[in-house]
Amino acid sequence: KGLKKYFPLTKGFFKKVVGYVRAVDDVSFDIKQGETLALVGESGCGKTTTAKSILRAIDPTDGDVILHLDGKDVNIAKLSRDELKPYRRYMQMIFQNPYTSLNPRMKVKEIVGEPLLVNGIAKGKELEDRVAELLKAVGLRPEYMIRYPHAFSGGQRQRIVIARAIALRPKLVVCDEPTSALDVSIRAQILNLLMDLQEEFALTYLFITHDLSVVEHISDRVAVMYLGKIVELSSTEEIFENPKHPYTETLLRSVPKPDPDLREELVPIEGEVPNPANPPSGCYFHPRCPYAKSICKEEYPEFRNLGTEDNPHYVACHFAESLKLRGVKITL
Ligand code: SF4
Repeated sequence: KGLKKYFPLTKGFFKKVVGYVRAVDDVSFDIKQGETLALVGESGCGKTTTAKSILRAIDPTDGDVILHLDGKDVNIAKLSRDELKPYRRYMQMIFQNPYTSLNPRMKVKEIVGEPLLVNGIAKGKELEDRVAELLKAVGLRPEYMIRYPHAFSGGQRQRIVIARAIALRPKLVVCDEPTSALDVSIRAQILNLLMDLQEEFALTYLFITHDLSVVEHISDRVAVMYLGKIVELSSTEEIFENPKHPYTETLLRSVPKPDPDLREELVPIEGEVPNPANPPSGCYFHPRCPYAKSICKEEYPEFRNLGTEDNPHYVACHFAESLKLRGVKITL
C-alpha cells in the first residue's frame, strides 16, 4: 500500500543529495492466497525494486507491506531487522539467473537443506530425507544431492533454486524472470513445474516478467508498471483482450506471435523510457503515447476502477473510457 522506494542521487565529496530516482512511486496492489499476480513492464520500470521492497531485501522509503498470516495482519515494512526474522520464511524469491544464484562450493543437499537447518526445522538424517523429497517435488533424482551446481544444466539448476525456495513452505514466492536466462526449449517445463508446485503447496506467486507470452500462460491477474507506477491492473483476460491503457496496448502489440497471419501486426515500442530521476510532467507516458492530449502533459491521471466489483479493472489514463484500444485474443 503506497509503497515507495527512492534512491538518492548524490554529488561531490560530501555526497550532497541533489535529487531522487523514484524507482517505486506509490505502488498499491494485493495478491490473494493461491493466485499468481504478474508484474510486467519494460526493463528499469521498477518491477524488481518493488519485489525487493516487499521482501525487505531492501528497505522501502515509505508505504506498507501487509502479510495476512493466520488471521493477523503483519506490516513487514515497519518491522525491525530482528522482528522480521520469524517472517522471512514465509516469503521467498526465485532469481532470474540460476548460474549466479547457487553457491558453487556447496553441494545440492547443503543448498536446499540450508533454510531447514538455519530455521531449526530438520537436521541429520531427517534433513537428508526432506531434501530428497524436495528434489523429487521439482523433478530431480534424490541421488543428485551430493553433486555440486556445476554438474547441472540451466534448467536443472533452476529446479534446485525452486526446491530451496519452497523448502520452508512459504506463503509468497516472488519469481523474478525465472525463465528468461534459460534455453527456450526448457522454459515451458519450468513454468509447468511452478504451476504444479503452486497447486501442490498452495503457493502464492508474484511473477515478474517482461515476457507477455509467459504472463498469458501463468498468471491470474496482471499489473502493468511504467516508470515506477502501476498504470493498469486487472484479470489476465481483461488485460489481454480489453486493455484500457495505451502503454498496455503498446506492450501487447510488441509481442511476437507464432501465427504467421498475425506477424505483420508486430509493432515495436516507440521511444526511450524516460529518466526516472526526471520523469515527464503529467502522465509519465505522454511523450510516447499516440493518444496524448494537452491535459496529459499537465495532470497525472487518477488510478481508478473502470471494471466491476467482481472483476475490477484499474487504469491510470485520462481517456481510458473513450479510447478503443486493441487487445489480443488469449490463445490458451
Ligand atoms: Fe496517453 Fe494521456 Fe492516457 Fe497518458 S493519460 S496514457 S498520455 S492518453
